[in-house]
Amino acid sequence: MITFDNVSKIYPGNIAAVVNLSLEIADGETLVLLGTSGSGKTTTMKMVNRLIEPSFGRITIKGVDIMDMDPIGLRRGIGYAIQHIGLFPHMNVSENISVVPRLLKWDRTKISQHVDKLLTMVGLGPDEFRYRYPSQLSGGQNQRVGVARALAADPPIVLMDEPFGALDPITREQLQNEFIELESKIKKTVIFVTHDIFEAVKMGDRIALLDRGFLHQLSTPLELVTNPANEFVEQFLGQHRLQLSLLTITVETILTKRQDARTLFANEQFPC
Ligand code: ADP
Ligand code: MG
Repeated sequence: MITFDNVSKIYPGNIAAVVNLSLEIADGETLVLLGTSGSGKTTTMKMVNRLIEPSFGRITIKGVDIMDMDPIGLRRGIGYAIQHIGLFPHMNVSENISVVPRLLKWDRTKISQHVDKLLTMVGLGPDEFRYRYPSQLSGGQNQRVGVARALAADPPIVLMDEPFGALDPITREQLQNEFIELESKIKKTVIFVTHDIFEAVKMGDRIALLDRGFLHQLSTPLELVTNPANEFVEQFLGQHRLQLSLLTITVETILTKRQDARTLFANEQFPC
């Protein structure tokens, strides 16, 4: 479990990027940080792997204050994928993916088998892609390699900052779907940043909606859409609300509703 306990980040110039943030992320959960540009999503995320240090408050992982951990060790246990994934241009795909396993001095055979497994997982045939250089990949393929690299050392926690943000809508949807499927198999604790409410609803077990550093609502996608906590949340959902509520109605809800209707009709002695 990851906990934020009254965490604030004030940048020089008195810029309050994150204000009094308290939340808990359960093991295996995907928490989406959602908000417009400048709302504090990236700052919140980077405080988890100490790329940014909080000004106030405490972050713990499994009960241990991250400020008491060695930052290098901490980061090796946390996968990290960002929008422009920044693969190393002079390393091929296999070398890019295996950076952390090599640092951890895994056995060579184990590394190469693992790289092939990861490539297959993200939908890139190992024989075709293992030895390519980043310049020989499309944007979508680059992002796939980035996701594979983030998962390479099998970290329990993965941070993803708008990882599919720069892709065309079709590739983006493909990667979202693949990641959801992958995640259901490997069950990591994921913090996923996006400004796109549809992506948030699709990817998140829960969504934290931020604005100017403040947390406005932390809830399941269904709860966010059907029960906005305040006027800001309502405005944020805006004209998408109907479409979003359709998206969040799960099969289970539909089934329950149908059951309710049947009971109702049965009581009223209507055929149903
Ligand atoms: P988001 O990821 O939601 O777009 P950020 O966390 O990057 O937002 O930024 C939150 C706020 O903090 C913004 O107002 C941004 O301008 C400011 N900010 C981010 N990084 C720095 C920095 N290194 N120095 C000063 N201000 C920063
Ligand atoms: Mg950001």
